[in-house]
Parts: sequence; C-alpha cells; structure tokens
Amino acid sequence: MSAPAVGGRPLAIGGLSKLSTCDWPGHLVATVFLQGCPWNCLYCHNPALIDCRSSGRLEWAVIVDFLRGRVGLLDGVVFSGGEATRQDLAPAIGELRALGFLIGLHTSGAYPRRLAALLESGLVDWVGFDVKARPENLAAVTGVTASAAAMTESLRLLLASGVDYQVRTTWGPGVPGVETVEEAESVLAWARAQGVIDPVLQPVRTEGTRELFQAMAA
Ligand code: SF4
Repeated sequence: MSAPAVGGRPLAIGGLSKLSTCDWPGHLVATVFLQGCPWNCLYCHNPALIDCRSSGRLEWAVIVDFLRGRVGLLDGVVFSGGEATRQDLAPAIGELRALGFLIGLHTSGAYPRRLAALLESGLVDWVGFDVKARPENLAAVTGVTASAAAMTESLRLLLASGVDYQVRTTWGPGVPGVETVEEAESVLAWARAQGVIDPVLQPVRTEGTRELFQAMAA
C-alpha cells in the first residue's frame, strides 16, 4: 500500500495512540500524531513532535493495517499533532473514511487556509480547537508573533463551517496570560464573544514538558 503523499513526500507521523476515550469526547478513537509544528509552546507535552524536518517514526501503511483490524470496534480516528494541518491530510482521511471511520481533527489554528480546505471538503466530522490564550497573549505562549492572527482566523473559519467542534483552553501555573481562574475565564469570555458555544478549560499538565516549563509551573 502506498502512503498518502504530497509532492512525493509521505506523511510524517510521530506516533499512534491505539485507543482513547478522551481525544474526541463521547467517541472511542485511535489517534494519529502528525510530526511537526510551527509553534513552540512553553507547555508542549510532546516537544519531540515539534521538529518539522523530522520524517517521523511510523509508516502510514502500518497505521492503516492496524485500523483495518479495528473496523466496527472504534468509532473514528483523530488526527492530532504536532500541528495536524501542517501536512495534506485529505488522502489519508479519504482512505480511513472509506473504511467507515469518523474523522476528528485537533488543531491550534496555525494554518487557516489548510484548515478551511479541510472543513470545506466535508472530510472532517469534528474539530478539537485550542484557544491557548487571548490574542494579545498568544505569542507569549507559542513563541510566534503571527500565531494570534492565524488562530483568530482559523476559529472564525471553524465557526462559519458548521462542523461540530470543541474549543478548549489550557490553564494553570506557568501558562502566560492563563494562570489564574480570572485569566482563564477571560479567555473563555473572548471565545464566547467570537461565537464559541460551551468552551472548556483543561488543566495544564507537566508530564512530558521541558524542564524550563516544569520549573515555571512548580
Ligand atoms: S501547538 Fe501543540 S504541538 Fe505545537 S508547540 Fe504548541 S502544544 Fe506543541
């Protein structure tokens, strides 16, 4: 089986979670972790996935073989990251939809045009969207000045698409602009003002994060 590819390059895949009950609330899923992210969040809990030059650790064919054995047992497959929309997922998603899986997508909104193409394609059933901070504080989280504009535009596109979603915000010690309950509520208020229904908070975790963040969160 040939791997889905763009311009001759196969998908760079960093890992596979064979069963999750929380990556897509209410669904039993497997989760594919795509390699590469243009941002560099202080609290990234899998910083090994950030490197966009890495070709990843898993072949697409291995994942498809595994999922063929889960048809009828799993509801769907979630594409996560890294930043999943960095790569062209459409061929891979099409292959899994043909097997009968629903498709979820995790994104922080770094690539609005690529997200828009996926949403318009009808290939994605649900999106888990990270609003990591209010726009004025986002660069302090991601280390990238342009992240605020990208996130804001991606959120607008998601809300306009009609695709089912959950918007979530990570908060807690060490998260710039989202450390206190008041700051976290302020982020949710910003999201609601954009039109988000029922945004949720999730506590920051230190497992897997870099030593610098663990020191900041202590
Ligand atoms: S957007 Fe996600 S994958 Fe990228 S650096 Fe931030 S936490 Fe890590």
